[in-house]
Amino acid sequence: MPSATSHRKKKQRRPYLSVVLPVYNEEENIRLQYDQIIKAVKPLKVTYEIVFIDDGSADRSAEILREIAGSDRAVKLVVFRRNFGQTAAMSAGIDFASGEIIVFMDSDLQNDPGDIGALFEKIEEGYDVVSGWRVKRQDKFLSRKLPSQIANRLIAKVTGVKLHDLGCSLKAYRGDLLRQVNLYGEMHRFIPVHASWLGAKITEVPVGHHARKFGKSKYGIIRTFKVLLDLITVTFLGKYSTKPIYVFGGTGFFLLILGLASFVATVLMKIFLYQSMSRNPLLILTVLLVILGVLFIQIGILAEILIRIYHESQDKQPYSVLDTVNIDYK
Ligand code: UDP
Ligand code: MG
Repeated sequence: MPSATSHRKKKQRRPYLSVVLPVYNEEENIRLQYDQIIKAVKPLKVTYEIVFIDDGSADRSAEILREIAGSDRAVKLVVFRRNFGQTAAMSAGIDFASGEIIVFMDSDLQNDPGDIGALFEKIEEGYDVVSGWRVKRQDKFLSRKLPSQIANRLIAKVTGVKLHDLGCSLKAYRGDLLRQVNLYGEMHRFIPVHASWLGAKITEVPVGHHARKFGKSKYGIIRTFKVLLDLITVTFLGKYSTKPIYVFGGTGFFLLILGLASFVATVLMKIFLYQSMSRNPLLILTVLLVILGVLFIQIGILAEILIRIYHESQDKQPYSVLDTVNIDYK
């Protein structure tokens, strides 16, 4: 371990550009990926770093990454204790990358590092988020492309963030903005949505895409359903995270009003139609609606309490670091 002074001497200036890559069992891909990135970022003539997050790989990925980081100080490496998932890896990427511009991409050679330049230019133009759009995506149609298209359309409708390809990992962000976004579960594809709600200027550029040559995909069709559930959470947290009582309380009031209407109908039917109240199914409906209404308002109050706890405990990390290499300005 270097001493504190040598630490300080070696302390580098913050690089302008960080390229962040999550890695999980990509031993055949890493070296090629690294070479391609170097070729792509050198011509940009800016200071850069490449941050690899080894997400608990069981193959030789971490070993190869240690070799690369040993020979190139621009390569920063974070090694997880176990597999925490792509979102946690990206979250660590955000925590450890120090660039003013942060570019994410996959480490399986499916994204084309040659596109980094185009994303970079858009950020320089003044955009805060530049989303890659795999116009000619090289994945299976039925299990990957179709569900993804449907999900993207739905997300665009619900959130108002009109991007074609949220699932494309190749994306560029202004670092300051990205550092304000907290990630949970498998939420990384919603980063542009979170950013948009913070007021980010967003655009997209077409990027290349290659079929996977080595290793295999870590995901299947199940992910689509997870994305849909995430959409509900994101929408709720985004729009109502500071005022959940409006959603639950609003629904509660609505149910109470329906309950009242149903009660009035029961009484009127008794007076004018001589319909027995206790034999009138509307009475049961009244009781149900009133109970539900009261419950909804109570859930709203609980949600208000929860949301306060949620906002106060946000510095918790969703991962555990075993080791780092070349990271010395933290
Ligand atoms: N990945 C990861 N942790 C995981 C799963 C995936 O770091 O638990 C990485 C993986 O190494 C790759 C990227 O996330 O760089 C995307 O994964 P994959 O290529 O399997 O997804 P697909 O391209 O099939 O959507
Ligand atoms: Mg892939």
